[in-house]
Amino acid sequence: MAYKISDDCISCGACAAECPVGAITEGDGKYVIDADTCIDCGACAGTCPVDAPSGE
Ligand code: SF4
Ligand code: SF4
Repeated sequence: MAYKISDDCISCGACAAECPVGAITEGDGKYVIDADTCIDCGACAGTCPVDAPSGE
């Protein structure tokens, strides 16, 4: 189950820099996680200032 980024995202880009597999890219109004690439490591959730990424 891949992580997802909620609408709370403020597009700071911190998570994209931390993702070890490059699964996070800037989307329309927020950053998005490619579910097929995400390995569920949780690094994005630990980095986000607004707690936008979450696992299941
Ligand atoms: Fe990248 Fe890990 Fe976040 Fe998945 S959980 S998007 S692999 S940092
Ligand atoms: Fe959005 Fe959080 Fe990622 Fe910043 S770290 S781009 S606020 S999900």
